[in-house]
Amino acid sequence: MDLKKIEKILKDEPKYRLTQAMDFIFKNFGDDWEASNLSKDIKEKLSREASLKIDAEIFWADDNKSAKAIIILCDGKKIETVLMRHKDRNTICVSSQVGCPMACAFCATGKMGFERNLSAEEILEQALFFARLLKEDGERVNNIVFMGMGEPMLNFEEVMKAAKLFNEKMEIGARKISISTCGIIPGIKKLADEKRQYNLALSLHAPSDRLRGELMPINKKYRIADILDAVSDYISKTGRKVLIEYILFKGINDSKDQAKELARLLKSKLKGPFVVNLILYNKTESEFLPSEKSEVDSFKEELEENGVEATERYRFGRGIDGACGQLRKK
Ligand code: SAH
Repeated sequence: MDLKKIEKILKDEPKYRLTQAMDFIFKNFGDDWEASNLSKDIKEKLSREASLKIDAEIFWADDNKSAKAIIILCDGKKIETVLMRHKDRNTICVSSQVGCPMACAFCATGKMGFERNLSAEEILEQALFFARLLKEDGERVNNIVFMGMGEPMLNFEEVMKAAKLFNEKMEIGARKISISTCGIIPGIKKLADEKRQYNLALSLHAPSDRLRGELMPINKKYRIADILDAVSDYISKTGRKVLIEYILFKGINDSKDQAKELARLLKSKLKGPFVVNLILYNKTESEFLPSEKSEVDSFKEELEENGVEATERYRFGRGIDGACGQLRKK
């Protein structure tokens, strides 16, 4: 989809034509100009030069609560997008890059390396694809999380443009849009300066630089203390509660002592409200294993006893390899 192109095609038409076209995309969630109420000539021109088709393959999980779409881009590259249907809301997990340069040891996307950044429209289309589908059930997209393939802070401009499109065109509140980062400090700072109400999520996964450096190579460039300073600054500028993501890896970062260490670290370094989101590891081709349920429970208890709010992430999409960190080219 090419919004600029659509505007260009309609620039000599009366203004309401463009409104009609935008409504067709963002209110009707149409995928074929023929079904719009534009004039015959315009429909033909738009179909020829600015098609709304999204080339994708969809896989539903057995419980029908989540689905993964593999979207094929104009250059043939493939990205993945996940729909999660909660009781009261639908969340789309979007990719921001084809592949990812961060090479986190536990993540499947990291293994495929980095191919290219996505454009804002390629990010937008991921949500539009599912919005079209949800419309058939009288539902809509309520939340967006930038937690698919890629590191959003390394594609900052396009991610910001996409977030704005979600917000202004798809009418998804800024507070319903979350951006997750492995801790790219310049990106966190830029996001704070945007002065928008987006949620920031930080993938921490370890309470010390030594361990984090083994799991996430980027930690050699940006140290935990400096990242948490930038996050504190984000909280003070936006007033938003920050999400600290922590995957529990069996025998690696899931002991009670590490929970205490994590609580101490966050309480001393983070100025402002935050919550730790404990993530069960989804197996990929790596040496890591998920922690047992009992270990997850005791880690959570230990955090809470040490005055840190913690939640456990509900798992979606495992049967379709659409769960966190399982997205990759097959
Ligand atoms: N690059 C960004 C966003 C993409 S990953 C970031 O690092 O935050 C979204 C989340 O899924 C991150 O917290 C990431 O660490 C986590 N993740 C990666 N692989 C995973 C796996 N196999 N199981 C569970 N979570 C995983």
